[in-house]
Amino acid sequence: MSDTVLYEVREHIAFITLNRPDVHNAQNPELLAALDDCWTRAAQDDDVKVILLQANGRNFSAGHDLAVPEDRKSDPFSNFDYKERGVAGQYLWEHAHYFEYSRRWRNNPKPSIAAVQGACIAAGLMLCWPCDLIVAADNAWFSDPTLMMGIAGVEYHGHTWELGPRKAKQMLFTSDRLGAQEAHSLGMVNEVVPLDELQDFALQLAQKVAEKDLFSLVMAKRVVNQTTDIMGQPAALQAGFDLHEMGHAQCLARSGGKTAVLTRDVAELRKKNTQS
Ligand code: ZN
Repeated sequence: MSDTVLYEVREHIAFITLNRPDVHNAQNPELLAALDDCWTRAAQDDDVKVILLQANGRNFSAGHDLAVPEDRKSDPFSNFDYKERGVAGQYLWEHAHYFEYSRRWRNNPKPSIAAVQGACIAAGLMLCWPCDLIVAADNAWFSDPTLMMGIAGVEYHGHTWELGPRKAKQMLFTSDRLGAQEAHSLGMVNEVVPLDELQDFALQLAQKVAEKDLFSLVMAKRVVNQTTDIMGQPAALQAGFDLHEMGHAQCLARSGGKTAVLTRDVAELRKKNTQS
């Protein structure tokens, strides 16, 4: 298994640890595939009762890796050769990977907890939002600046569900950061703890969950998830993804070859964000 994500089971807890601290846990396809494998492994292991997702380094995740791999030509946002496949290639790739990964993690039968410190930017949200509980360090902050790239939010539209319509719009319109305390007051985050207590607190929470009967936990998760399913969450998420792809298509049409158009130097902004 790739060392971009670490996996360990202790005391009925599956510890999944993002392990690219040198690049602020930026998500490349290798990391995402490894992460998805870990979630599946935890689901299939009868000994695991709860999943604890955490991150090595100062920041939880800086989002998708904007470094340009050789097979992506010059467009870091495109995962295919658009000249060959048009918009369909981008749509299908992002659906199978970004969108379905997050949905699959959300639908994992076992309870999950995310422990978040520092920056959680754009696709970083697609790692913690699918978790059932989120514990944030007091230095954690959350943002989705994808409007600055010509796109109406990340592939997984958790915003409205997590923050309510008004704050979701504010997050998207302004690209501003949402601090841990405000995220807590909106119900997006369960608990805020001092940074140096994050790991212990998340562990104790996981231990408390792991004391329970697994079948009861699975049913408890299911009753809440089914409620939001009945409220229309799956269809809304799919619609949100389609609008995200509309943004890529618009950029492609207007720019003559880029699936995202930077209205600011996002790479520079990210550098600044992950340093502060
Ligand atoms: Zn996209």
